[in-house]
Amino acid sequence: MVSQNIPTPSKALAIGAHPDDIEFGAGATLAKWAADGCEVSLMIATDGSKGSWDSSADPAELTTLRKAEQRAAADLLGVSGELVFLDLIDGELNAGIEEREIVASWIRKLQPNVVLGHDPWKRYRLHPDHRNAGHLTIEGIVAARDPFFLINSELPPHRPSELFLFEAEEIDHLETCDGYEKQKLNALESHRSQFVSTMGIVEGNEDHGLETFRERIVLQLCSFGELAETEMAEGFKRITEL
Ligand SMILES: [Zn+2]
Repeated sequence: MVSQNIPTPSKALAIGAHPDDIEFGAGATLAKWAADGCEVSLMIATDGSKGSWDSSADPAELTTLRKAEQRAAADLLGVSGELVFLDLIDGELNAGIEEREIVASWIRKLQPNVVLGHDPWKRYRLHPDHRNAGHLTIEGIVAARDPFFLINSELPPHRPSELFLFEAEEIDHLETCDGYEKQKLNALESHRSQFVSTMGIVEGNEDHGLETFRERIVLQLCSFGELAETEMAEGFKRITEL
């Protein structure tokens, strides 16, 4: 049973391991909700310092650049809430108690109705940060909602009503996003430092691979759109028993 289109939440928080992950997973849905008045916040768990195939790149410069790219992407999506950088070390993200408490505190502070994050149970996923960011999202919700977690915190418990896992192993929910594909693409293309490593866009190629990349993203939106009997959609695993 596949559900479709929840009412626009008043507040949403999307949690990604690296700058650009959220745009890949849920960019069009977030743009749609933001346009309809949702206060969207983004949380980036790591500093993005390993996001280059150029071994001569300076990790500190890369971090600064990727934050600027993420700010630009957030603006293009219409993000009106917080843009939170946890600045944990790229490639070394742990889903430990300490990190969970940081995520949970932000969930209590921001009080989102909907939380979005990576599916930690996605099969054959290679990057440890994506798996651990997914665990942190889920376990952060548990710690945010239960009063005996974060006992030293003054922030009251908060229980979101929905969890959406993106790039999920089992898709059981679709958000239609006709007309928001351009915003998703523009936000993705803000991450210029990831053109080569993530998007296959190489300066000097005939079309730099940019058109191929755009086609890939649109094709994916269209394949979910077909399931939703519309043009474009994004697919999620939806968990409502929180
Ligand atoms: Zn990533």
